[in-house]
Amino acid sequence: MPAVPLQSLWSVTAPAGPVCGRLEEALQAQVAVIGAGYTGLSAALHLAERGREVVVLEAADIGARASGTNGGQVIPGVKHDPDTLERIFGHDAGSRLVATAAAGPDLVFELIAQHRIECDAVRTGWIQPAESDEALAELAARVEQWRRRGAAVELLSREAMRRLTGSQHYRGGLLDRRGGTLQPLSYVRGLAAAALRVGARIFTESPALELTRSAHGWSIETPRGRVRAPLVIAATNAYTGPVCGALRRTVIPVPSFQVATAPMPTALRPQILPEGQAASDTRRLLRYFRVDGSGRLVLGSRGTFAQAPGVRSVQRHYRAVHETPDHLPHLHELAPGLLAGLGYNGRGVAMATMMGRLLARLALGVPAAELGFPVTAMRPVPLHALSGIAVRAAIQYLRLADAVERARRSP
Ligand SMILES: Cc1cc2nc3c(=O)[nH]c(=O)nc-3n(C[C@H](O)[C@H](O)[C@H](O)COP(=O)(O)OP(=O)(O)OC[C@H]3O[C@@H](n4cnc5c(N)ncnc54)[C@H](O)[C@@H]3O)c2cc1C
Repeated sequence: MPAVPLQSLWSVTAPAGPVCGRLEEALQAQVAVIGAGYTGLSAALHLAERGREVVVLEAADIGARASGTNGGQVIPGVKHDPDTLERIFGHDAGSRLVATAAAGPDLVFELIAQHRIECDAVRTGWIQPAESDEALAELAARVEQWRRRGAAVELLSREAMRRLTGSQHYRGGLLDRRGGTLQPLSYVRGLAAAALRVGARIFTESPALELTRSAHGWSIETPRGRVRAPLVIAATNAYTGPVCGALRRTVIPVPSFQVATAPMPTALRPQILPEGQAASDTRRLLRYFRVDGSGRLVLGSRGTFAQAPGVRSVQRHYRAVHETPDHLPHLHELAPGLLAGLGYNGRGVAMATMMGRLLARLALGVPAAELGFPVTAMRPVPLHALSGIAVRAAIQYLRLADAVERARRSP
C-alpha cells in the first residue's frame, strides 16, 4: 500500500487533473487542510463554498493514495449494521450516525451532478452476494434493519443473484439501491477542480513536515513554504505520518490489490454485472468486483503477495489485531483548532466525502452535538509498531478460515 503505482487502470483512463504547483511561499489562510484525497478535498470544497480561505497541502499528487487507487464502489453506511450502531452509541446518537453514514452516496452523486464531474458514475446499486446460507441469514437481518429505516435495500434470491452477477456460486444476497460505482481517480480530480473553482488553493508535492501552535494559531512547515491558519484539518488517512503526533497510531493500514481484464467482448456484457452494480461478497477476506466505464471486469481483495507466516503465529497475530481497533470512521478534535477525520475501513468513497463535509461544518462553527456524527478522543492502538506484521498475519488467517469453510461446505 505505501507505494503509489506509477500507472494504474485508473490513471490511464482518468481525465487529467488540475495542475497545482508546490508551495514556495508563506501563506495565511482561515483553514489549512493536510491531504488531497476525498476527505481533504470535500472539506476544502465545502469550506471554500462558504467563503472561507482554504489552503490544501498534499505530500504527493491529488488522489495519489487511496482516493485515486480504490475500487470505486460507492457503498452506503459503515461496517457495522444500524442496530449495532444504536447499541454502541445509544439510540439518539446512534440513529443520527446511521442517517449520516447512509446519506454518503447521496452526497457523492449530488456533488458529481452539481460540479459536472466526469467519472463514469453509475447509480444502480451495490450488491453483497452471500457465500453461504449462514451469510444469507445475516444479510436477511441486515436488509430487515435497513428496511425498517425506509432504505431501498432488498434480499435477492439465488436466481436473481445469478442474473445480476453472472455467477451461480452465490446463495442469494443483498441489493442496496443507494450505492453505485465511479472512476475513483476521476472523481477525486473532479473534487479538486471544483474546490479550486470556488477559491480553494491546492499545493501538491508539498508535505506538511511540522505542525506547531502559537498564540496566533497553527503554523505548518513544508519543504519550501509555510502556512499559518487558526484551523487545521488533518485528512491524511492511512498515510498519516508523525506530523500529527499520535494520530498515526490510531489507524492500521491494510494492504489491498486490484486486477482488471481487457474490455469484455460485447456478447459477454449482458451476462456479467449487466446492470452495472458493484459486488462485495461475504467472505472474511472479501472479494469485490465491478465493471469499469470501458467494460473491463475489475476485481479486488485485501491482501499481500508477501510470504505467509506460520499458522500458529498467524492465529496469535490475528487475535491481537482483531481485538484492538474498532472498524468505524473517526472524527477527532486533536487540540483546539486541529481536527482530523479518518478510518473508513474500505468504505471511504462515500464516507470520506461525507467526513469532509462534517469537518467543514465543524470548522464553520457547527456545534459538535449538532453534527450527526460523534467527535471522539483519539485512541492509539497498543503495540502499533507491530501492526504491520499483525495485519499480514491476519490476512493469511482470514484466507485460511475462508478456505476451511469452503472445504467444509463442498460435498
Ligand atoms: C485498494 C483500495 C481499494 C478500496 N476500495 C474502496 C471501494 O471500492 N469503495 C470505498 O468506499 N472505499 C474503498 N477504499 C477506501 C477508500 O479509498 C478510502 O477510504 C478513501 O479514499 C480515504 O480518503 P482520504 O481522503 O481520507 O485518504 P487518501 O485518499 O489516502 O488521502 C490522504 C492524503 O493525505 C496525504 N498526506 C499524508 N500525509 C501528508 C502530509 N504530512 N502532508 C501532506 N499530505 C499528506 C497523502 O499523500 C494522501 O494523498 C479502498 C482503498 C484502497 C486502498
